[in-house]
Amino acid sequence: MRRQRGGSGTLDAAGAGPVADALTLRGVSREYRRGVVALHPVDLTVPRGRFLAVMGPSGSGKSTLLQCAAGLDRPTAGTVRIGGTELASLKETALTRLRRERIGFVFQAHNLVPSLSVAENVALPLLLGGEQPDGRAVRALAAVGLGERGEDRPTELSGGQRQRVAIARALVTEPDIVFADEPTGALDPATAQGVLALLRQAVDRGGHTVVMVTHDPAAAAWADEALFLARGRVVERLERPGADEVSRMMRDLGRDAGQGAAREGWGA
Ligand code: ADP
Repeated sequence: MRRQRGGSGTLDAAGAGPVADALTLRGVSREYRRGVVALHPVDLTVPRGRFLAVMGPSGSGKSTLLQCAAGLDRPTAGTVRIGGTELASLKETALTRLRRERIGFVFQAHNLVPSLSVAENVALPLLLGGEQPDGRAVRALAAVGLGERGEDRPTELSGGQRQRVAIARALVTEPDIVFADEPTGALDPATAQGVLALLRQAVDRGGHTVVMVTHDPAAAAWADEALFLARGRVVERLERPGADEVSRMMRDLGRDAGQGAAREGWGA
């Protein structure tokens, strides 16, 4: 069932009740060992149908935030909800199922299985869940412009095409949310633009929700909002970010991070 877009309080398509936001973090923090706080308490709501870019200098907590939000790591404190389901309430098998069925992942390296065909790669999340693809993999491939390449092996495709397959695989289960970790990090700028346009289209036409970690201001400019982390805290949020202002912000944060590191004796 395709649900209506919108934040908390929106009724679902059947009018049965409020539709939960795609992602909610309440007071989510992560301390790796005593004193090393990778993430200070973060509150964040991502409504359905939104494209959010997460930015910040290296070591600012982007991966930690993504891993906690996607149920790949357990926060030290706070609650994470995916489509209204609180992750802490789930045992490991239920969490694994939720990750497979209700979260899509796109990584910098596309992580396709080379021995499977392109169509089989896209169908994999369904097959692992014991479901028949029922044409869903074919439709997902067509939606990323690769409807004719289902029988090929991933090695027969270009880097950009492989990333399109990874996006089709991430969307095939109609997940509550897609997490993309530097999805264009290994692509040339022109190919990257195509992949970003596809993510934008998944949000605008498909009603999907995307949270993308990136260090590239040009990539962030495709998002509805850019959220900036520094030293494990959310320090700024920009609606409809432009590449220039994102670049400026990243320069400032990089400078601050460098000064902080030097102050604390980590720098040169
Ligand atoms: P980013 O993704 O922005 O580069 P990370 O989330 O990877 O930042 O890291 C945030 C902070 O947490 C850094 O100081 C990093 O060294 C630390 N950190 C990350 N993972 C671990 C870990 N497994 N054990 C200890 N410290 C970690």
